Amino acid sequence: TQFRLADFDRLAVLGRGNGGTVYKVRHRETCALYALKVLHEDAGAEADILGRLASPFVVRCHAVLPASCSAGDVALLLELVDGGSLDAVSRRRGAFAEAALAEVAAQALSGLAYLHARRVVHLDVKPSNLLATAAGEIKVADFGIARVLSRSGDHCTSYVGTAAYMSPERFDPEAHGGHYDPCAADVWSLGVTVLELLMGRYPLLPAGQQPNWAALMCAICFGEPPALPDGAASPELRSFISACLHKDYCRRASVAELLAHPFIVGRDVLASRDALQQLVAEA
Ligand code: ATP
Ligand code: MG
Repeated sequence: TQFRLADFDRLAVLGRGNGGTVYKVRHRETCALYALKVLHEDAGAEADILGRLASPFVVRCHAVLPASCSAGDVALLLELVDGGSLDAVSRRRGAFAEAALAEVAAQALSGLAYLHARRVVHLDVKPSNLLATAAGEIKVADFGIARVLSRSGDHCTSYVGTAAYMSPERFDPEAHGGHYDPCAADVWSLGVTVLELLMGRYPLLPAGQQPNWAALMCAICFGEPPALPDGAASPELRSFISACLHKDYCRRASVAELLAHPFIVGRDVLASRDALQQLVAEA
């Protein structure tokens, strides 16, 4: 189908961010629902990257439409992910049960494995960029700062993304010889994300502390992850989180290793999926 912006009715605002505004829209002719991300500035890279991806674990882009607002603007016609982002689910439902968390981690890892196999690094993994469907599916979204690695070994020293989820070697590249493995940076961000959903709040600063630059730098580069109280997590989940949050990126687990971790392979797949589905649907 050839889509035009004029063929859609805007029904609601789903989210606003640095990259753009996301609307829930309906295609007038077919009544099909989509999400439409109208990008504030030229974000050709996001459209280019999303356009070549097709995975059940990555939000699908059906079309890139020229937006009328101002020259150079584009809008991405995305699959509508009806359960919203995990930060919203967590705000409504509080801390995630382990079963649901295992399913989130397994599907997010499947998404990262798909991306990394195509030399795409996301670089902005966090709860607001993981979307859930009411059926309990997780989709990696928001490719606003993602990039395709060049064959010559990419350094990715540009300082972009959300500092709170940034790995130590991205925060302070000088201390790590000025370069790093961007795939390992995605693993760190996933670890912070899983820990945040487990605790029900941003995990690397004390509750209530404002996430300013200096505090984040201290916590990420020099602090240790919070000690979880006894009974707060199974040994498998604790081990999974510490495998993601190795400060030394060379010792951090890879996506492939994490997909084979006992927290992931040992989960009861049906029960986990069910737990996630209920968390999203009852919201
Ligand atoms: P930020 O700068 O905050 O990271 P952004 O401007 O880059 O955000 P996105 O993260 O792509 O934009 O989208 C913002 C919000 O809109 C998401 O957190 C989510 O709540 C909602 N959203 C985005 N895409 C979809 C979608 N396909 N289906 C449903 N909701 C979506
Ligand atoms: Mg976002």
